[in-house]
Amino acid sequence: MLNIIFGYSKYYVDNLSENVRRGLRTKIRSGWHANQAPTGYRNCKETRTVVPDGEQFAMVQEIFSLLLSGCYSVSQVHGIVRSRNKVCPAPSSVYNILRNPFYAGYIRSRGQLYPGAHTPAVSKADFEKAQAILSQARKTRPRRLRFDYSSVFSCSACGFGVSAERKIKPSGREYTYYHCTQRGRGCAEPSIEGRELERQIVAFLGEIELPPQPSAAFQREIEIARTELVAVRAKARQAQTQTATDLKRQISNLTDMRLQELIPADEFTRKRQQLERQVNATAEKIKEVDGEIAMFEPLTVLHILLSKARSWLTSVVIEEKRVLLLLLCSNPTIRDRKAILSARNPLSELIFLHGFTRHLTDVKNGGTNPIDVKVVRTEFQTRLQDFLADPETRELAKDARRFIERVEPALLAGNDNNALLPQETERSKPGAG
Ligand SMILES: [Zn+2]
Repeated sequence: MLNIIFGYSKYYVDNLSENVRRGLRTKIRSGWHANQAPTGYRNCKETRTVVPDGEQFAMVQEIFSLLLSGCYSVSQVHGIVRSRNKVCPAPSSVYNILRNPFYAGYIRSRGQLYPGAHTPAVSKADFEKAQAILSQARKTRPRRLRFDYSSVFSCSACGFGVSAERKIKPSGREYTYYHCTQRGRGCAEPSIEGRELERQIVAFLGEIELPPQPSAAFQREIEIARTELVAVRAKARQAQTQTATDLKRQISNLTDMRLQELIPADEFTRKRQQLERQVNATAEKIKEVDGEIAMFEPLTVLHILLSKARSWLTSVVIEEKRVLLLLLCSNPTIRDRKAILSARNPLSELIFLHGFTRHLTDVKNGGTNPIDVKVVRTEFQTRLQDFLADPETRELAKDARRFIERVEPALLAGNDNNALLPQETERSKPGAG
């Protein structure tokens, strides 16, 4: 009886999903989008069709027309659209919109294109032209960057990009001027001379610079955190390893039972699969724990970035200067001939942590209550852990590592995976600090 019910419900489920699949296929063949409508469109419940979505549809058309003008890169297109619309997609979404054939009237399903029945946002010819511009931009990008900081800054008055222009004075001297792309089109922000801009950038990099070798006090605190973390993780790893051993024993027992025909074949298969899934999950967790031991790596990489940035600015090629500045700063803007630069969150936190250990030394030297030292140390450890656990820290460290690998890979040598800030020799030196 039970078997019949099971059999029936399996038939029912299979049948249902097949019907759903068939429904989607029919929908696509008849020219309608089967899933959630993309940006610029909405699913109309009454007619079960996909229709243009007012302002969003106009915004998509604007995105295409700006790119098709040939004057703007994708990020510039994003900047312009952002300044004109209340809701604006992320730069990567702007790129995805430009790449999506849906806007030219096609539906993509399982790698196949089908003619759609919806209103296209651009003609097929324009869509193809946009694809050509996108792939061309990819190939020629390095050649187009003749200026150090064009399209790095945005204008603080109007939000548009800042571009550069070269001028030759009667004396024959060359000058580069950076100005808002909307200058003469309603923006009155004055332009800034290239050397002056560079001077301001160098001054900013001097402000956020860290010494090549972190202070002994800082290294000592990092070492304390590391020892603690390693102990906690070792415990977690041990627990997971024990679980894995238990599960393997259960599988072995189960196999014995099956061999003695104490359980039916289907029950054996089901139980064994269940146990194997648990074994895999445990192995994943062990891997995770091992990965976390290496979580101090961002500390090394971001420290290198902050200690070398100023000297790199004068030594690296133009393209890398731009990358460097964007790695270090969030949303650089220019206002009234001043570069408004602020370090990205993980970097300002790292600078703060460095200052904090100085505070710790001061508390100690001042002969303050030992409780104060404990409080300060606890706070340092908490902030350090937050810093290391922050996904933004890890993302930035990844980008920074790629950058360093290009410009000065020797700095990373010997600092692989488990890299920790304190150098072996420094740490073991008697009386260091
Ligand atoms: Zn402007």
